[in-house]
Amino acid sequence: MPQNTLDTSIEYLKGVGPAKAELLKKEAQIFKFGDLLHLFPFRYVDRSQFYKISEIRNADTEVQIIGKITHLDEVKGKGRSKRLVGTFTDDTGSVELVWFQGARWIKPSLRLNQPYVLFGKPNWFQNKFSFPHPELELLEDFKASPLKGLQPVYPSTEKLNAKGLNSRGISKLMKNLIPQLKGSIREILPNNILKAYQLQPLERSYTDVHFPSGLEELEKARRRLKFDEFFFLQLELLRQKEIHRNTYRGFAFRELGENFNRFYKEILPFELTGAQKRVLKEIRNDIRKGAHMNRLVQGDVGSGKTIVALMAMLMAVDNGFQACLMAPTEILANQHYQGLKELTEDLPLKVALLTGSTKTSERKVLHEQLQNGELNILVGTHALLEDKVKYKNLGIAIVDEQHRFGVAQRAKLWKKNSLPPHVLVMTATPIPRTLAMTLYGNLDISVIDELPPGRKPITTVHRSDNNRLKVFGFLKEEIAKGRQVYIVYPLIEESEKMDYKDLMDGYESVIRAFPRPEYQVSIVHGKMKPADKDFEMQRFVEGKTHILVATTVIEVGVNVPNASVMVIESSERFGLSQLHQLRGRVGRGAEQSYCILMSGNKLSNDAKTRIKTMVRTNDGFEIAEVDMKLRGPGDLMGTRQSGVLDLKIADITRDSTILKEAREAATQLLQADPQLQKDENIPLKNAFLARTRGKIQWSRIS
Ligand code: ADP
Ligand code: MG
Repeated sequence: MPQNTLDTSIEYLKGVGPAKAELLKKEAQIFKFGDLLHLFPFRYVDRSQFYKISEIRNADTEVQIIGKITHLDEVKGKGRSKRLVGTFTDDTGSVELVWFQGARWIKPSLRLNQPYVLFGKPNWFQNKFSFPHPELELLEDFKASPLKGLQPVYPSTEKLNAKGLNSRGISKLMKNLIPQLKGSIREILPNNILKAYQLQPLERSYTDVHFPSGLEELEKARRRLKFDEFFFLQLELLRQKEIHRNTYRGFAFRELGENFNRFYKEILPFELTGAQKRVLKEIRNDIRKGAHMNRLVQGDVGSGKTIVALMAMLMAVDNGFQACLMAPTEILANQHYQGLKELTEDLPLKVALLTGSTKTSERKVLHEQLQNGELNILVGTHALLEDKVKYKNLGIAIVDEQHRFGVAQRAKLWKKNSLPPHVLVMTATPIPRTLAMTLYGNLDISVIDELPPGRKPITTVHRSDNNRLKVFGFLKEEIAKGRQVYIVYPLIEESEKMDYKDLMDGYESVIRAFPRPEYQVSIVHGKMKPADKDFEMQRFVEGKTHILVATTVIEVGVNVPNASVMVIESSERFGLSQLHQLRGRVGRGAEQSYCILMSGNKLSNDAKTRIKTMVRTNDGFEIAEVDMKLRGPGDLMGTRQSGVLDLKIADITRDSTILKEAREAATQLLQADPQLQKDENIPLKNAFLARTRGKIQWSRIS
């Protein structure tokens, strides 16, 4: 027998036995008593109330009725499928019962004309209330263990259901489990945290979450358990950050030197926004001290991340180090290079560009200048990662649009110097703060949450496909004013011939509506050769074409301030963050800009919400919040696999306040007792070690 009852194998629980134990392991990953304890109800229903059939309204929630099954029949459906259909009657009327699966074994388990308690969700169907897959229990059994007040609803599966482990069955197991655990659930949080956050004792919380005596008790129990879940997660992330800080030394850039100061005083063409200043300070604080910087800068499109990057690079240069800036596409790398060159032309600096299309002869020179230190700043694509690219003294590496790079690629940057260079990754795909806190909780995060002054908000409208002619008319007016236009089609996947056809059909209709020579139209898509792509793109950047018809290849970073209209075709097929990124391609100049979302007339509810959100707001963080609510945190940024969001009771979207409290508590705890050595923290330390043991290291993002 294990020392702690929580570690007892589940088959030894009364009511389980070998067969059910096998099923619980397979279907619900429940191996031990402790695992069952952590199977939390996802909902609660009030089962102190009974309804008469005549009282049922078209309500969403479950009702409970006493009555008899007066009729039961298997009905043949399509193919070999069979439905089980029944009638349930009380003295005020009757309703239909229906099972779409399991007819064969459900039918013999039910008895006609015996009093039953029915529990289920009514469905108004063909002028009648119908109960799909209802819970039925003989009245005499029900009376033997009556359900009072709030009843938990547990997650279940078809197979668990079939063996009687439906929500009610699991609840019965809990009834056997909880008394057995008396004394095994020890408090793990120290008193000061319990007090400060008004958390109730752990044992009580587990009891109340499974058998709530009332709404208030339930809320307290859930709050405590959610807090614990977030708390341990944050503790782990903060520990990782701490380990990082202590393990990796970094170069100390102690001075703000000539380049930085001259740039700031004489060259910088505008006043920095408050947010830009704050982020620069945060960066400077990291890198002056000799710790290694591993920082994420989040900033909406157009918030001015590039200048911040440049100034961070100047800090490195002034301290005798080199800097590099890596971008995900040639177009973007090119733009950064041109921009940086212009901004630094009066400074005693050498800036160069390295991409896949840099000629071999140029490359040789570059490699040499990098190694002898003549070159101060190198801008480029993933070509920067090649082994041949060796620096004399790389002090800081900046990654733009970091989500476009893989972890392995970013990790290569770390090896470009004896000590790893400081790493700054930038992203224009805002993620909600609460998610960032969890997902990137082991990084330092800076947020540029302010746009440069004077920007006119982009006007966004939704137009149906029937209005395309009108939309084209509007584009002509804008072009007549000297503006340029993007028209974007959904991504071309290798196999998706349809997308390609849509794009080409679209391109042709654009050419017809905007004939040469009056209008010039470029096209860019993923199936083109890189050189052709760049050529077409360049024509648009230089203002030689009026319209750029493209797929989402232009999503990232491209800066054409003269472009003032973004038309997104089949906008219902894009995700919110993509729509927001695309819209960010306009509104970069002084002119009023527009984003026109085209769509068909038939839209799903989610698509409607996405489009409405885009029309309502330009705020990337607000959009990210909606996106997270629509898709769930797990689907954002491919985080499902990461395991970081594998939460059992807490919910990042809804419980953000508790998350912040837990983060704060964990931070303070580690400050006061970094090694968790104090007596009052020993139970917590043991619990923490037990939870993290054997877990794989979470991937760092750079
Ligand atoms: P992003 O954050 O999307 O990378 P950029 O760095 O490309 O944004 O900046 C967008 C535009 O805003 C650029 O033309 C840049 O010169 C300008 N900009 C940046 N910061 C400021 C500021 N503080 N005041 C005015 N314009 C600014
Ligand atoms: Mg940018």
